[in-house]
Amino acid sequence: MKYLQNIHTHTICSDGKNQPEEIVKKALELGFDTIGFSEHSPMYFSDVYNIRLEGNEIYRDVIPKLKEKYKGIIDIYMGIELELCAMIDLSPYDYVLGALHYFPMGEDIVAFDRSPEEVKGAIDKYFCGNGILFAKRFYEFFAETVTGMKEKIDVVAHYDLCAKHRDFYNFFNEDSKEYKNYALEALHAIGEKVDIFEINTGGMARGYRKTPYPASFIVKELKNMGKGVILGSDCHDMNYLNFGFDDGVELLKSNGFNSVMILTPDGFKETGL
Ligand SMILES: [Zn+2]
Ligand SMILES: [Zn+2]
Repeated sequence: MKYLQNIHTHTICSDGKNQPEEIVKKALELGFDTIGFSEHSPMYFSDVYNIRLEGNEIYRDVIPKLKEKYKGIIDIYMGIELELCAMIDLSPYDYVLGALHYFPMGEDIVAFDRSPEEVKGAIDKYFCGNGILFAKRFYEFFAETVTGMKEKIDVVAHYDLCAKHRDFYNFFNEDSKEYKNYALEALHAIGEKVDIFEINTGGMARGYRKTPYPASFIVKELKNMGKGVILGSDCHDMNYLNFGFDDGVELLKSNGFNSVMILTPDGFKETGL
C-alpha cells in the first residue's frame, strides 16, 4: 500500500527548512494526492521553533492561496500542531494535531523535545535524576490537559515523545511495568476524547531514533481500543516527506492494524493498508 499523504509538515513559517510551495511540489513529485501543513502553534512562553504571531498571519495568508493555485491537482490543508499547554483559537484550521513538547513545573515550563543533554539536564533539575518520574509527569500532564479541554483535537501527534531518545540513551526503562502503566493509563484517558493517533517517523528522519513513535506496546493498545492511526513524517525537510512510512506500516501490521486514516475533503476516513 502506498500512503499518499502527509499532514504533519513544517515549513519556514515555523522550524522547517522549506517554503510551503516547495513542499507542495515535492508532494506532487512523490505522487501524493494530499498534503497538510501543521506548523507549531504560537506559544505565550516561547518563540523558538513555533510560529510567532506575525508568522501565523503569513501562514494563514499563504496556505489558502496555495490551495487555490493547486485546486484539482492536489488537496492542500491548513492544519496546526497545537501545543496542548498553550491553547489558541483553533477555528481557522482544517485539522488539529495535538502535541506536548513542554509541561509546566511550578513557575517553569520544561522543554523536553530537545537534545539528550538538555533532556538529561531537565530530569536532573526537576526530578533529581529520576527518569521515570519525568515520564510520569509527562503522561499525567498529557492526560489531564486533554481530558480538561473543551476544544477538540483530531489527532494526537507523537504520543510518547518523553521517550524521544530511547534508542540511544537510557533515561528510564521503557519495559518496566511502572512506565507502561503510566503510558497506558494516560492513553485510555486521552482515548476518551481523541480517536486518531499518529505513527510518527520524524525522529528517524532526523537520525535520533531507529523506530517510529509510539512504542509497539502502545500501538498494540491503540488497536485494542479500536483507535484509528495516521502516518506522518513530521517533515521539517522536504527530502524526508515520506521518510520511514514503510517502517510505520510494518509497526502497524505487526500490531494487527489493517487500515489507516487519511484526511479527505469529507474529513478523516479509514482506508485499507
Ligand atoms: Zn511535535
Ligand atoms: Zn511536528
